[in-house]
Amino acid sequence: MKIGREDFEAFLKGEKDIRPYIELDPVAGSYSVFGVKTASNPNYLVKAIYEMYESNLDKKLAVQAVRKLFRSVGMGSVGLNNLLKKLDLNLSPAEFLMLVFKLQHQQGWGAPFELIEQSDKRIRLRTKQTFESQIMKDWNMAVCGIHQGWIEGILFAATGKNWFCLETKCHAKGDDVCEFIADQVESSWRFKAQAIVKGDSAITEYIEHKPLNGTIKLIDDPVVMMPRFIFTSMMNSLKKTMGEMPAGGVNYRAYMEMGKENVEHYKKMGIDKPNILSDMAFAFYSQMGWFSVLKTEWNEATKTKTMTLTHTVESEAFGNTGKNVCFCTAGLLAGIIEGSFGIKVQAKEIKCRSKGDEYCVFAITNKTENSQ
Ligand SMILES: [Zn+2]
Ligand SMILES: [Zn+2]
Repeated sequence: MKIGREDFEAFLKGEKDIRPYIELDPVAGSYSVFGVKTASNPNYLVKAIYEMYESNLDKKLAVQAVRKLFRSVGMGSVGLNNLLKKLDLNLSPAEFLMLVFKLQHQQGWGAPFELIEQSDKRIRLRTKQTFESQIMKDWNMAVCGIHQGWIEGILFAATGKNWFCLETKCHAKGDDVCEFIADQVESSWRFKAQAIVKGDSAITEYIEHKPLNGTIKLIDDPVVMMPRFIFTSMMNSLKKTMGEMPAGGVNYRAYMEMGKENVEHYKKMGIDKPNILSDMAFAFYSQMGWFSVLKTEWNEATKTKTMTLTHTVESEAFGNTGKNVCFCTAGLLAGIIEGSFGIKVQAKEIKCRSKGDEYCVFAITNKTENSQ
């Protein structure tokens, strides 16, 4: 079927709908609309996608993962955008967005949006409900990651710029409508890192893993995966050459330097508030599997910060040894705090899972002149 400019114009004006452009060939198993192969939208597929992400993430982050997936789907509209340009049909980003959703809606997919606001940098859309808000209604929260990502991808295809879409109201949460606000944003390291700290994104959203090239990047920074037993292996080899206590000290200092350097890197990326710097480092290390912070307490009288970690990489690697083993983690915590707050501290592990305690607990105090 040949589709021309007049077809799009008739569609945009509402003089025609998609029915004349549907080609269904059950024998060949092909179904196309406007010359593009398509398929129906089975509810079980949508549910399966959300539930697959939920098995590793909480519900909120699962919605964000769905959003990322559908951003790629939305980017596919670049083909339609090029076709319209070739036909000399120049639409604004918001008009293009509305056209794509109109096409999708008539096929039983996207929402029938109402455009509330449009400028170069902000587009606001509203709809009574989306299909995912109906399917995922039992989550009882803002669930429309499909539409969020889709909007971001379509706007990227139309403008070549990054857009960030928020869902401010959602039918699945009990609101009267689903409302989306898309803002054109710079896609900076800072923006992504802060989303991780605020809990709006998981680091997995920004891991670029190219296994066949042997590279992994986390928000554009190269990283490596390493086996946890590296900690037992390193510690044992140091112990053999210098004895147990000095080996602990060497590890403590090495990881303290690493923690400090890590914070320096965040500073170079434009983060400057001490609390955000330390929260960022704790969030990153925790999401990378080093430990999980259960609680942090401050004792004003003794000027001691106490951090309770539910599992540390060393206590997990060593298992039960009857002794404290988390010298690297202690150093890392000290380095992160020193780097973030510009002070000198000492971190001492006072309870350890490897010793038989329930958690690893670290007491962090200001360093006095006499202490080393
Ligand atoms: Zn919604
Ligand atoms: Zn420990």
